[in-house]
Amino acid sequence: MALRKSLFIFSGNIQSMRTTIFLTLFFVVTALHAQYEDRNSIDPKATEIYEPKAPKITPGEAAGAAPSDAIVLFNGKDFSEWVGKDGASPKWEIKDGVMTVVKGTGDIKTKRTFGDVQLHIEWRSPSVIVGEGQGRGNSGIFLQERYELQVLDSYESQTYSNGQAGSIYKQHIPLVNATKKPGEWQTYDVIYTAPRFSNNGRLVSPAYITVLHNGVLIQNHSQIWGPTEYKGLPVYMSHDKGSIILQDHSNPVSYRNIWIREL
Ligand code: MG
Repeated sequence: MALRKSLFIFSGNIQSMRTTIFLTLFFVVTALHAQYEDRNSIDPKATEIYEPKAPKITPGEAAGAAPSDAIVLFNGKDFSEWVGKDGASPKWEIKDGVMTVVKGTGDIKTKRTFGDVQLHIEWRSPSVIVGEGQGRGNSGIFLQERYELQVLDSYESQTYSNGQAGSIYKQHIPLVNATKKPGEWQTYDVIYTAPRFSNNGRLVSPAYITVLHNGVLIQNHSQIWGPTEYKGLPVYMSHDKGSIILQDHSNPVSYRNIWIREL
């Protein structure tokens, strides 16, 4: 008797399971059909946006050339867009369209300040190899005066991975090492989103950075943890727009063709 009863319950369960599956399929098919019917009745123009239009610009002719809406920060001629740490004209050298760090003269920074940007910059490690690790071809590009994208000769020189060329210094290791030989020109193409702070100075959203090194993706929307520190962990402090800083780390690193687009 008990066996017959349990068989009855079991078969009843199978029956209800079948009903459930059937009803689920029925509703899914009905919903899909309804959606298809709905889309058929939609005017495609309802999702076409004509205003505003994307501003028309002229891209640079050659690879890496500034587009028409860029601010050219260095065209090989002068330091008109830059100041030294003392507020005077930088003491770095300009020769043959190239600026080169002069040891001990200090960092240089842009007169203009920026928030969200696209930045193109070309750099070259010294062809004469001197030093090792952080002492070989070290410079750096600081976004908003705080967040360093490392410039270093990382071709055949070892250092900590989160301090090599293309790292966000002591925060993010580059996805690959795309470094060229010392003495060869290299490019960084950067897309940078500035951090946001509330009126009372609290961090609302951190900074993000995407970097192509010689055309290769090395930082993919990396979240910056705060100012890049040599010692200790980063802590965000509220700030406004900031300059681009190029670092004097005592090595004769060179730069050319620097342009920026405000986003
Ligand atoms: Mg550096």
